[in-house]
Amino acid sequence: MLSVVTRVAAVMVTALASATLAATTASATSTPEPAVRSYDRAPSASTTTAAAAPVVTRTQRDGKAVSFTFDDGPHPTYTPQVLDLLAQNQLKATFCLVGTEVEKYPDLVRRINAEGHALCNHSWQHDSMQTKPVADIRADLTRTSNAIRAAVPNAVIKYYRAPYGEWGASPDVAQELGMTSVGWSVDPRDWALPGADAIAQSVRTNLRDTGVVLLHDAGGVREQTVSAVRVLLPELKAAGWFFDVPQDLNGAVNCTGIPAWSPTQVYTGGQSVTHAGRKWTAKWWTQNNTPGTNDVWSNAGLCPV
Ligand SMILES: [Zn+2]
Repeated sequence: MLSVVTRVAAVMVTALASATLAATTASATSTPEPAVRSYDRAPSASTTTAAAAPVVTRTQRDGKAVSFTFDDGPHPTYTPQVLDLLAQNQLKATFCLVGTEVEKYPDLVRRINAEGHALCNHSWQHDSMQTKPVADIRADLTRTSNAIRAAVPNAVIKYYRAPYGEWGASPDVAQELGMTSVGWSVDPRDWALPGADAIAQSVRTNLRDTGVVLLHDAGGVREQTVSAVRVLLPELKAAGWFFDVPQDLNGAVNCTGIPAWSPTQVYTGGQSVTHAGRKWTAKWWTQNNTPGTNDVWSNAGLCPV
């Protein structure tokens, strides 16, 4: 018993240190670089948000899984090239679409959807959401989803991503509209045109289990991105990576056999519980931390009712 108490105390210290480190990292990287062109500038930290709703930065499944996400399209030149590469490798990705481009190229939206890729709302005209009022954000995201559904009737749009990662209050609005806000964990800064090899190498170096990779198939010249993707897809597939969708907080997950959370129970990292209609997974050893009120538990999705 003594050893359990000691271990829990040690883990609590580790958890506190991790939380402090995370907060420091977020504040250190939240200042965006100056704008170069509307679509070509450094994204803010994907964790910059004033909203209560979470921004996920991981895949749906655990383990050696990766989500490739392509932003700012569709684009008449690069989107078909990316789709061809995905098809050749029999892999799926997620496309974060800009409303004005959806309106121009509805056939490409239909192709993305028909080939089984996930759809993501990336705002009407790539505005920062940092200071936008909630009503304006709601109008913007609704207009964008309506344009996607005009191209693909009854399209399932599970995801939303804020331009530049400048979320403001938008994750709350996205949640209200049934979308999970998706950030990223790997940013090879392809928009800065570092060269195809540098883009590919950055992904290789920084990719960890459940990684979400930020790439762009539009918003500028994307030949380097396409070249990097041409190399990365077969390479990562051969190395055993599963190409997954980002975590879907509004999707139903299997809660069968998962115990209800109890404040008196000690949980270890990776253990799952149900609480308030959702499945939660502990990030580390914990006791008496209510799921949803702190950073100890990750939200794994809705239990079907
Ligand atoms: Zn973008």
